[in-house]
Amino acid sequence: MPFMMSTRALARLDHAALRAAGQRSAEGRPSRAGGTTAPYAVFATAGYARTMLRHVLRLRQWVTVISQADDLHPLIEGAVSPAIRLQIPAGTVSREFLAAYDSTRHFALSPIAPCPQCGARVPTVCINNLADYGDWLRGAQDLAESPFYRTSPAHHDDCPLPGQPLTT
Ligand SMILES: [Zn+2]
Repeated sequence: MPFMMSTRALARLDHAALRAAGQRSAEGRPSRAGGTTAPYAVFATAGYARTMLRHVLRLRQWVTVISQADDLHPLIEGAVSPAIRLQIPAGTVSREFLAAYDSTRHFALSPIAPCPQCGARVPTVCINNLADYGDWLRGAQDLAESPFYRTSPAHHDDCPLPGQPLTT
């Protein structure tokens, strides 16, 4: 029987992620999430997307993960199934993620957060493991952008970000 995560449990998850990121940084390992390390995309179901989120964030089995088809983001060419929106509800807050394929058909999991330019909630960076998530939480600049970061239809009409070239 799944239970909803408490805000305290979510804080513990964040701490674990920050610790993993700090440990990786201390060991001198690169933080950039590369497409080559992402698992090859085999998910075609919401269930597999949920399983991948659990794996990446090392979530306990009892943690509730809600999934729904994402009807906002268009399919990337070559994608074998639609994007899926995942949510971890925790008390009064929740974390949202987009599970989709990148252009090489690798699994791309991205936290959804406000766009720095227009404030719309958009997929941000690709996270492949807990340390990536920790890096994202602490605002690291060298994570790989989500393939939908600039192209997301969620950006407001006057948002300059979709027209800006990649800086990395
Ligand atoms: Zn925007």
